[in-house]
Amino acid sequence: MSREGRLFIVSGPSGSGKSTVLGEVFKQRPDIYFSVSATTRAPRPGETDGVEYFFITEEQFDRMVENDEFLEHARYARCSYGTPREPVARRLSRGTDVILDIEVQGARQVKSRMPEAVTVFIAPPSLQELERRLRGRATDSEEKIALRLETAKGELEESARYDHVVVNDDYVRAAGELLNIINNA
Ligand code: ADP
Ligand code: 5GP
Repeated sequence: MSREGRLFIVSGPSGSGKSTVLGEVFKQRPDIYFSVSATTRAPRPGETDGVEYFFITEEQFDRMVENDEFLEHARYARCSYGTPREPVARRLSRGTDVILDIEVQGARQVKSRMPEAVTVFIAPPSLQELERRLRGRATDSEEKIALRLETAKGELEESARYDHVVVNDDYVRAAGELLNIINNA
């Protein structure tokens, strides 16, 4: 019988560089399935429905919660985010490795139900650098940036619960470290 796929949970403050690092990882491991979350936040310029996220309304989100369609879900910076359950379960049962890019509350929910999941925290080199990256990305309003920075402090405290912490100083180096974790799991 073929083995189940492995589940990797990647968390880290918004702006720490998760998407950038994961982009490098998928260049080396295009066989891994990236779980596309549903969110009620508005798309940023350049984001496409069904690629980075499924962009849905609060009503649609609530219906998915009622129908138990999420593996986990959480509120973050005044918006809702959730991992559709079925696409993840299908890949794992077929032996495909899966990566979730989710925040710390969701990561806790999944890890408590699936303790075999490998958790990785992507940390910025410093809060100052995190702020610089959030501003440099130029995708969020001043209010959203402030909210993300405030949230980051609590998230950094949660990093101690993770199996691995990767500091995203140089994103190619950080991606190499994450690939090592994935390939050796
Ligand atoms: P996240 O997915 O964690 O919210 P992003 O991948 O969108 O973060 O990165 C936030 C910003 O920081 C982007 O503008 C990105 O180009 C930049 N960035 C990512 N990694 C690094 C790095 N190692 N050094 C400098 N800038 C980076
Ligand atoms: P952003 O709005 O910057 O794309 O994401 C904000 C935060 O939501 C990030 O920490 C990201 O990891 C997290 N996130 C994205 N999708 C999900 C999800 O499905 N569930 C949970 N719990 N968090 C998510």
